[in-house]
Amino acid sequence: MKPARFEYARPTNLVDALILLRDHRDDAAILSGGQSLVPMMNLRVASPQIVIDINSIPDMDEIAIDGSTLQIGARSRHNDVLRSKLVQQHAPLLSMALQNVAHEAIRNRGTLGGSLALADPAAEMPACMVCLGAEIVLRSADGSRSVAAADFFRGIYDTALEPDELITSIRIPVFSADWRFVFHEIARRHGDFALAGLAFGRQYNGEIVQDCRAVFLGVEAFPRRLIEIEQAFIGTNLNDRGTIEKADQLLASSLDCLEGGEYPTEYRLHLAQQLLVRCDSEAFDENRR
Ligand SMILES: Cc1cc2nc3c(=O)[nH]c(=O)nc-3n(C[C@H](O)[C@H](O)[C@H](O)COP(=O)(O)OP(=O)(O)OC[C@H]3O[C@@H](n4cnc5c(N)ncnc54)[C@H](O)[C@@H]3O)c2cc1C
Repeated sequence: MKPARFEYARPTNLVDALILLRDHRDDAAILSGGQSLVPMMNLRVASPQIVIDINSIPDMDEIAIDGSTLQIGARSRHNDVLRSKLVQQHAPLLSMALQNVAHEAIRNRGTLGGSLALADPAAEMPACMVCLGAEIVLRSADGSRSVAAADFFRGIYDTALEPDELITSIRIPVFSADWRFVFHEIARRHGDFALAGLAFGRQYNGEIVQDCRAVFLGVEAFPRRLIEIEQAFIGTNLNDRGTIEKADQLLASSLDCLEGGEYPTEYRLHLAQQLLVRCDSEAFDENRR
């Protein structure tokens, strides 16, 4: 199928893009990597009157360290983030997770900002951003604001983005060296959207867990930190293997699993339990190294 008729604009600076967005609001769509928008337009799931292509706006794809914050431009391609030495050093969770995002050709065009704006419940980057406590920087013609990733995702394909706003960058705090992050997902084929995944991190003082982060993808409608699960690990000794059994049992009461679709709720819960055991064991091994 071909898309419905639309106007196309390719502004060469951010201000012009924001004015276009302010003037057209819900009738406009931002084109970043186009890996989701273009198929949606071809299927007529999306029929914007105007497409605002942000690919000629300078400085939207920079990756830099600013004090204790890693800053990633919203138009950074998945593969550029994956290969970035700064990301590997300061946010290794992203490098691990991005290896699971789609295929090479899609990662060459798809962008971090596009993935966050789309907010697919099975996407890797939203869950990682919540796990890392990232801030999402938004601009409109009226000014800018920053939204914590934990408040940005609101439901299936639903975010805090207003119709006149654009994601310009993402700010990720750099964690101290006593944190270990791991990422695992289960997909039918490598590169497919995940059936379920888990972004998991623990801070250690020797063998004692000081702090913990656990965020699933593909299991609930949107990513959120599972505080009950995190608390189950905090203060425990890594050698106490009873903790993982307790955390595993808590999952059933903590998770609000997606319903309907191809997979029953019980199956999603089972996948979540498998992922928690896998991540716990790998984080344990990493700390021993
Ligand atoms: C076959 C296939 C497999 C895939 N597998 C995966 C996968 O396993 N995991 C995964 O996470 N993704 C997967 N994707 C999606 C891919 O990662 C996309 O790149 C991503 O979802 C959207 O990024 P994009 O830059 O292409 O955004 P676009 O398609 O350009 O835009 C997507 C949406 O976000 C809006 N938008 C884009 N940029 C901004 C911005 N800066 N500010 C505000 N709104 C914006 C657009 O208006 C549009 O509504 C897959 C895609 C395909 C086609």
